Amino acid sequence: MDFQELKEKDKSYIAATYSRFAAEIYEGKGATLRAEDGKEYIDFGSGIGVNAFGVNDEAWKAAVKAQLDKVQHASNLYYTRPQAELAELLCRKSGAARVFFSNSGAEANECAIKAARKYSFDKYGEGRFHIVTLKNSFHGRTMATLSATGQDALHRYFMPFVEGFSYADPTFAGVKKECGEGTCAVMLELIQGESGVNALDEKEVQKIAAFCKERDILLIVDEVQTGNGRTGYLYAYQYYGIVPDIATTAKGLAGGLPLGATMFFAKTADTLTAGSHGSTFGGNPVSCAGALSVLSRIDKDLLLEVQGKAAYLRTHLARMRGVLSVSGLGLMIGLEIKKDAREAAEKCLERGLMVLTAKNKIRLLPPLTIGKGEMDAGLKILDEVLSE
Ligand SMILES: *Cc1c(COP(=O)(O)O)cnc(C)c1O
Repeated sequence: MDFQELKEKDKSYIAATYSRFAAEIYEGKGATLRAEDGKEYIDFGSGIGVNAFGVNDEAWKAAVKAQLDKVQHASNLYYTRPQAELAELLCRKSGAARVFFSNSGAEANECAIKAARKYSFDKYGEGRFHIVTLKNSFHGRTMATLSATGQDALHRYFMPFVEGFSYADPTFAGVKKECGEGTCAVMLELIQGESGVNALDEKEVQKIAAFCKERDILLIVDEVQTGNGRTGYLYAYQYYGIVPDIATTAKGLAGGLPLGATMFFAKTADTLTAGSHGSTFGGNPVSCAGALSVLSRIDKDLLLEVQGKAAYLRTHLARMRGVLSVSGLGLMIGLEIKKDAREAAEKCLERGLMVLTAKNKIRLLPPLTIGKGEMDAGLKILDEVLSE
């Protein structure tokens, strides 16, 4: 099957929800990917921030294979070691008290939404269910997380949406204005990824956190994209100097396997009770073994390394003629460019560089372990494409 045949098969049999780039990913090593015909790509996208340690990382593979040799799935009717060990490690590193495991970012957020409403129901009774999210946020594609997503363009076709959400301007004043007697939670992406890699202001976020605490409104931080070392901090809330009541993560957590986590801090640790939530696949032992390998290596040294690579890339990007501004934090990078972002991304791909887009920006989420040679090769292609 050549690439043309692959494309035709995909088009014939797969639901047409994706406008894919014209490249096949067949194999790779580190931040270098290859198609079946041998064409190579530098990877500045890591599968949308998922392959945190790149492709074919030896320690990760060994951990995953060792678990595959034992058992691939158990269901949550029974105990498994990787799940318990991962939960402990996540709590120790994040400051959370308990974790619920699922399979994706949307599910992690779905769980956070349910838990926030139950926390309020348990304490205040019916009617306190309203959740404030931000304009231009992205929280997922399920009915509730789509309802939570503050983008009108995504609120079509599927009416009625889940009620009880409103969308605030990304400031303290904006959030305060949307909060009322019936508000149980505020949900934030500290750096809005899908809508253009825009970081919220630290002072505004700290004011929102203090306000929420005062009113017993739960602060939910969506770290699906920002989490697990991506920003040069284990979680972005650590950079912002706040402690959420619930934090969610997924993308990079298991280094390429599906895994979502909803982390409950002190206030919400006992909110979910037997039977109140669940997932058949959630916390799959193979995914958890992969996550243990990744998370145990995201230590101070690695985070400093990420910060160093981020500074290197950002310095070079800021100097490029075709770049108007550079946004985000750490290795979560947004580029405002003079060209159309999709066209520029396609041109990069033709020359052997994979980049992402976010609205009309170029978005870079390279593997945390990307090498200097790979960074330089990618920067060179990007510079050529953007300055044409
Ligand atoms: C990707 C993303 C999600 C959705 O994650 P899925 O795994 O695709 O369900 C939710 N929130 C944020 C901030 C994301 O970046």
